[in-house]
Amino acid sequence: DVEVAIKVVVVGNGAVGKSSMIQRYCKGIFTKDYKKTIGVDFLERQISVRGEDVRLMLWDTAGQEEFDAITKAYYRGAQACAIVFSTVDRDSFDAVEKWRTKVEDECGNIPMVLVQNKIDLIDQALVKVEEADELAKRLRLKFYRASVKEDLNVNDVFMYLTEKYLEI
Ligand code: GDP
Ligand code: MG
Repeated sequence: DVEVAIKVVVVGNGAVGKSSMIQRYCKGIFTKDYKKTIGVDFLERQISVRGEDVRLMLWDTAGQEEFDAITKAYYRGAQACAIVFSTVDRDSFDAVEKWRTKVEDECGNIPMVLVQNKIDLIDQALVKVEEADELAKRLRLKFYRASVKEDLNVNDVFMYLTEKYLEI
């Protein structure tokens, strides 16, 4: 029996890999051109964390991030958040603080984590290792480097948010 359900919003600029991350975590697959299924707001996955059954609902945006047009309904009731940027997209890194502020304004002080995705493309990185470390430190965000493609650290991101939410 499921006791706890957590709404998690995944934010960040377009094309950083948010939809891919949600699909990877909830369905265990990676496709090169995943398109959000029309009409599906979130995917879910049930996990067991130290004896607690938890249902994670990972909310996807409909690709409207470029227009700053994510609806209030997307954020409503969110209990945790992953802010994602891409190793090979400088703008997405520069936008992290804006996303953090946006989520705080809409959701208050909820557990948050910063994710640098596409770490498999580190050879083409447009963000220095120290820069990312410094930003995470300055914003006081737990920081993960991940590759949705290689399935690296994706589980850890959501485990962290769950544990933080449950305060364990
Ligand atoms: P979204 O706009 O943030 O939802 O991004 P998508 O999930 O649609 O991903 C954008 C593109 O990046 C797609 O072509 C994905 O296949 C690709 N992508 C996602 N994650 C990774 C990753 O970890 N490594 C690489 N190399 N490509 C990725
Ligand atoms: Mg998407």
